[in-house]
Amino acid sequence: MRLHEYQSKQIFNRYGIPIPNGRVASSSGEARQIAEELGGRVVVKAQVLVSGRGKAGGIRLAKTTREAEDLAASILGMELKGFPVRKVLVDEIVNIQKELYLSVTTDRSQRRPVMVTSFSGGMNIEEIYRTTPEKIFKMPIDPLLGLRDFQSRDLAASIDLPKDLWKSFIQLTHDLWNVYIDFDATQVEVNPLVITTDLKLVALDGKISIDDNALFRHPELTDFLDTGIEQPVEIEARKFGLSYVKLDGNIGCLVNGAGLAMSTMDIIRLNGGSPANFLDIGGGANAERVSAALRIVLLDPGVKTVLINIFGGITRCDEVAQGIMAALNEKPVSIPVIVRLAGTNADEGRRILDHPLLKQADSINEAAGICIGIAGKAD
Ligand code: GDP
Ligand code: MN
Repeated sequence: MRLHEYQSKQIFNRYGIPIPNGRVASSSGEARQIAEELGGRVVVKAQVLVSGRGKAGGIRLAKTTREAEDLAASILGMELKGFPVRKVLVDEIVNIQKELYLSVTTDRSQRRPVMVTSFSGGMNIEEIYRTTPEKIFKMPIDPLLGLRDFQSRDLAASIDLPKDLWKSFIQLTHDLWNVYIDFDATQVEVNPLVITTDLKLVALDGKISIDDNALFRHPELTDFLDTGIEQPVEIEARKFGLSYVKLDGNIGCLVNGAGLAMSTMDIIRLNGGSPANFLDIGGGANAERVSAALRIVLLDPGVKTVLINIFGGITRCDEVAQGIMAALNEKPVSIPVIVRLAGTNADEGRRILDHPLLKQADSINEAAGICIGIAGKAD
């Protein structure tokens, strides 16, 4: 579960991490009132769970209350990367001297949390990570010992922090670490952490992701849950008992069983393609669940073709085939769907499948090859 910026900042505030003054608004009138209280010079920030809001036009500075109201009205009418903006955060403008990066994240390859810093934070951090990873400093933290002061000092040194700020930075790293631990977070990110012109540290942005498996330990977060936090597609998927994770590629995948889903994605990658999602329809899926799954995969505008890979056991291939046909008949599709059926009732399933955009493959390798032929190789 990912929290919005304004929710993350509420938590930061509770932990003593300095944030700008501000509040969230659902209407331009509310935004105007907040701007008035803050003296007019405010930043209006779209509250949607996508990265790069700044570059997408979702973050704008206002010099007057009037301008804040107008900006709020236009941002509240926007869609950012497909997500409608329902709330804006109105924060006092902070005068920035330097933008830094600070986060704690669970590093699976190191099998421990790492605290990450960079002296060039801000909107280009992903770019920096790709092109000059040496500008990013990672400090592994022993989960039993926790963050130690000497580590905080090393982190301060890694970003050439002015000596006057070391004390508050060390405190801030501990506060951030406590948020990470207390909330069972997988990531707590401050980007940018800024040095203001009057030489203070302020968390200008905040992003907290919480381990879904630990949500039951945090009943206090249920308030946050009601606010349209999850991506709508994931909610839709859960209603049908599907586990769906969106990825960046262009081949939609629909598979029964998590293990088979993993290996299907591996085979797509091995053949040079890139999966658009992970979708496990689970064991014993009926036609209804299959057709819901296919509709969900097709919601992703990045999907150029769909690969359906079913190994029938308890799941019957003829049921799956009926589900596929139901989805295709319900809403016309314009992209090819490649199906590989094996196992229980596979022959019956193959006979049911009949649609101009459906193509059947005998093996998963063949199916992956056809999909990559349509969707292209990953770069
Ligand atoms: P993101 O693009 O979704 O990560 O949104 P951020 O909250 O990180 O804001 C993006 C950028 O907007 C920051 O890196 C700043 O350069 C700028 N920005 C945000 N708030 C302020 C502010 O109060 N004052 C100034 N001058 N710039 C701001
Ligand atoms: Mn940011």
